[in-house]
Amino acid sequence: MKRPANIFGCNPPRQTVNTEVFSYRGVLIDEEGIRHGTIIEGNFEESRTEYSEYVFTPTFFNAHTHLGDAVGKDPPFMDLKSLVAPGGYKFKILESSSKENLRSALIHELEIAKSAGTSCFLDFREGGIEGLEVTSGIREIITLGRPKTMEEAEKMNCSGFGMSSIRDHDFEFLCEVRKIARRRGIFFAIHAGEMNCEDVEGALELEPDILVHMNSCPELLKRFTDRGIPIVSCIRSNAFFGLLNLKAYAVLSEYENWLLGTDNAMLFNPSVLEEMHFASLLLRKDLEVFKAGIRGFKLFSVPSGYIVFHRKKNLKNSKNLISSIVRRAGVEDIESVVLPQP
Ligand SMILES: [Zn+2]
Repeated sequence: MKRPANIFGCNPPRQTVNTEVFSYRGVLIDEEGIRHGTIIEGNFEESRTEYSEYVFTPTFFNAHTHLGDAVGKDPPFMDLKSLVAPGGYKFKILESSSKENLRSALIHELEIAKSAGTSCFLDFREGGIEGLEVTSGIREIITLGRPKTMEEAEKMNCSGFGMSSIRDHDFEFLCEVRKIARRRGIFFAIHAGEMNCEDVEGALELEPDILVHMNSCPELLKRFTDRGIPIVSCIRSNAFFGLLNLKAYAVLSEYENWLLGTDNAMLFNPSVLEEMHFASLLLRKDLEVFKAGIRGFKLFSVPSGYIVFHRKKNLKNSKNLISSIVRRAGVEDIESVVLPQP
């Protein structure tokens, strides 16, 4: 899809991050296949010589987070409505937390995921126009706000709107918010098909730029995939709520605009690497899972960095580097995360 005009976040800093210059020789694995070369000053330079010292991949793109709710980690197991519906457990915690606490909890979680190679987060920020202060100025985040009124939707300084299911909003209001997003040249994203198909037709009518879930409605997936609408799966979150659906993931894994997200930071840390470990066992398609973890950069025209993996621990004796990264690599295998360079 084409990047709307007014998206900000996940751009390179104006100045180089590292003053020291590191260089690594190795093999790069990305959506184009496998190439040998050197990472120097944040860029990959291909070479004809075959190197094997390090393994490089692009950094990971987390296409769906609610990072602010990291302030209340690891609630008891409960169903979806009890946890995330308006007035549920999550919103009680959010309402009783100051913006400062939300922001510091968010930054803490973000650092954990960054050290595991995730460099960009499409965050669905809650709490209306005031809620935007929680992510303001954090360069790894593309913020999608959730307006409470049309006035807010006009004024909000964000890269798009990230709405809940049509179940949780007035439909006329959503139609207006959709129009405002189009006019302002920013994203309109929405959740649908997480529990059942009831909120799916309405979501389709809104022609979203990004759709989250669809695990519980594989029968209507084609309506979105025919239109090329990016769809994000949050598989660990589906498991938490007892909503796993292998049939839906099998279809989605073959879709060229399929992405991975980690959903509520209250439940899971926002590391795509960990999401991939879980997804691999369920889908048994490591290459597709890997691609879903990196394709957000190209899809939304955002620069990626590189993860430099050494081979001393989990990648030692690997017969398939993609499978080893997708199934078992951890922070202990990461030599360096090279962020996008200016
Ligand atoms: Zn969500």
